[in-house]
Amino acid sequence: MPRIAYVNGRYVAHRDAAVHIEDRGYQFADGVYEVCEVARGNLMDMTRHLDRLSRSLGELKMAWPMHRSALEIVLREVVRRNGVQNGLVYLQVTRGVAARDFLFPKDTASCMVVTAKSVDPRLAATRAETGIKVITLPETRWERVDIKSVGLLPNVLAKQAAKESGAQEAWFVDTDGNVKEGGSSNAWIVTADGKLVTRPAEHGILRGITRTTLFEVAAKLGLTIEERFFSVAEAKAAREAFISSATTIAMPVIEIDGAPVANGHPGSVVLSLREAFFDIAEKTKA
Ligand code: PLP
Repeated sequence: MPRIAYVNGRYVAHRDAAVHIEDRGYQFADGVYEVCEVARGNLMDMTRHLDRLSRSLGELKMAWPMHRSALEIVLREVVRRNGVQNGLVYLQVTRGVAARDFLFPKDTASCMVVTAKSVDPRLAATRAETGIKVITLPETRWERVDIKSVGLLPNVLAKQAAKESGAQEAWFVDTDGNVKEGGSSNAWIVTADGKLVTRPAEHGILRGITRTTLFEVAAKLGLTIEERFFSVAEAKAAREAFISSATTIAMPVIEIDGAPVANGHPGSVVLSLREAFFDIAEKTKA
């Protein structure tokens, strides 16, 4: 099946899809994005993703590219046209095309691109059985990481550094030695007495949609969550560690900076969260 992208009002062949060289996303990273998981033909947590999109747009004083209900139709249509049963849908909105100038352009429509791709769910399942490795790095990003902006250069560099160290994710650490979040995920630990710990979303991280839904999953499983800071040292000594994101759901971390977490195998708490996630998250038929 040929891949199809949505670009500013048109469904086009993915290989021909293009935006203007003066798109402000290209010129200034003046844009925002969302990534939703598609699982078993369902868009997962679409309402929360679009609520966060609304917030990101609002923080940047950027207009919605179209009515929210029309945008939902486009998301579903791109998933459908690409025959995606399991994978992801990516949505990007920029401040539009205008002669390069730092100031906001006047009367310029936002630009919107949507793509979708299939991902074999067995890949994540296999990875969850082995777990992933993370490295830690000093925070290098701007302060507004609560906005899901396409300006991701520090994340690119951090994740590349992780790969070059044989790891799959990099955790940004604040100046007090506390873990913030990953390059494209939120960070969690499980304490010796079985409590889940994750950094408060108001303190220099993105409020992950998966993170929010995991609060509900944890409640259903009778698990307690503490939103508080935790240090790299505490994470290394934790009973379990894991990351969360739309594409990884809850993924065990078995090694931090080369040191094993607990016995170096995925923990049972993260695996139970992972298993319960699909039943509890919102599902919208594509
Ligand atoms: N933190 C960062 C920096 C991210 O880029 C992401 C996702 O891409 C997340 C957290 C997790 O967010 P979500 O669960 O909405 O995918």
